[in-house]
Amino acid sequence: MTRLFGTNGIRGVVGQEMTADLAVKVGHAAGTFFEGGPVALARDPRLSGPMLARAGASGLMSAGCDVIDLGVVPTPCAQYYVAKSGRLKGALVVTASHNPREFNGLKAIDARGMEMRREDEESIESILSEGRYRIAAWSDVGSIRPDDSAPERYLDGIRAMVDVESIRERGPTVVVDPGNGAGCITTPYLARDLGCRVISLNGQADGAFPGRMPEPTAEHLDHLLRVVSETHADLGVAHDGDADRAVFVDDRGAFVEGDKSLALLARAAIRAHGGTVVTPVSTSSLIDDVVKGEGGTVVRTRVGSPIVARTMFETGAAFGGEENGGVIFPEHQFCRDGAMALAKMLELLAKEGKPLSELVAALPRYHIKKANVPVPVEERDAVLTALVGLAKGRSVDTTDGVKIREADGSVLVRPSGTEPIFRVYAEARTLARADALAAEGVELIRNALGQGKRTQ
Ligand code: MG
Repeated sequence: MTRLFGTNGIRGVVGQEMTADLAVKVGHAAGTFFEGGPVALARDPRLSGPMLARAGASGLMSAGCDVIDLGVVPTPCAQYYVAKSGRLKGALVVTASHNPREFNGLKAIDARGMEMRREDEESIESILSEGRYRIAAWSDVGSIRPDDSAPERYLDGIRAMVDVESIRERGPTVVVDPGNGAGCITTPYLARDLGCRVISLNGQADGAFPGRMPEPTAEHLDHLLRVVSETHADLGVAHDGDADRAVFVDDRGAFVEGDKSLALLARAAIRAHGGTVVTPVSTSSLIDDVVKGEGGTVVRTRVGSPIVARTMFETGAAFGGEENGGVIFPEHQFCRDGAMALAKMLELLAKEGKPLSELVAALPRYHIKKANVPVPVEERDAVLTALVGLAKGRSVDTTDGVKIREADGSVLVRPSGTEPIFRVYAEARTLARADALAAEGVELIRNALGQGKRTQ
């Protein structure tokens, strides 16, 4: 059976992998998995969204599901709607998140509003591949009705989670760049309601993404960086296409790397609640420094937001997230949430009473060096096994790939989930040491590849 769901749902180029036919089948299989119960449907503003959402809805209804169509909303807004409904079986979200405009995707959400477990995605995949669909009789075919109340409920939920008064008192200027994505319909209004002076960029939802690429990386945000510095704003924020991620720009117009915003938000969460922070094994040790400094602990998981959210749910963690701007606040919901991240960042700045640039500059500094080594997919497992053997006798973490810890740094080597490569991620307090550790990681993979070949 071919695997449909990747780390974050099903993704593909529209008209190639991502077709109306596939959306009907996935909707039908998901509706079968949901046993014909009521579900929500949502999408980001991609041009192919209406085509795929309607096809997905047909599949769901043919399995007997009553569909509540939320229209264009951020993915976390749809997740919040499901979680608070207390009666929906889940949701189907049509989004390709940060991917370029020609892509679209389908994502299944469970009854708690969380990204579906891998086992449940596999159930949907096997229903689809074996054609074991639930077929509703003529009298039980599902209905569909729109509900435009999701954004308001979602923003009410976020406002209830932060100290609005302290943010209002400072009245910061914020440049909001939702990148023409789903965040256009929520984040500028949230910032306004929190008492910010709001300047919005790329603020009209538009699936052609005319303003910038949907992925909020530094190289796509030159416009935002410039506007923040020219308007002397206190903060800039940008989302990906479905607004579950938020990245920040400081008061000097500098892009704040994801490990730094993650560390600042983690520190604030531990100060407020104590407890643990959940993050993948690939996250910078900066987070260990700041969390331990506040008396908290860090739990490491495999890479990917669904496993981070699931681990947080199971362990009762106070905070979690990844370095790509995807952060999770469990008091709000167990999924990445871009608007909530902004609200919490505003609260943090109001409470600390210092500019973001100053807070970032005060964090411990690490040097990071990354590299990729091509490894054919068929040799992936043998290379992984050989790597474990080669690292024997050293301080090793095999949560995801192989991470070797040294007194003055670490190197992680792990297979990519989407490409025929192994990624090397080295980190140390000096650049020279980070370079040396990365070189060692590359060498280890080459040796492991050699061993794999010899034993074949
Ligand atoms: Mg996303």
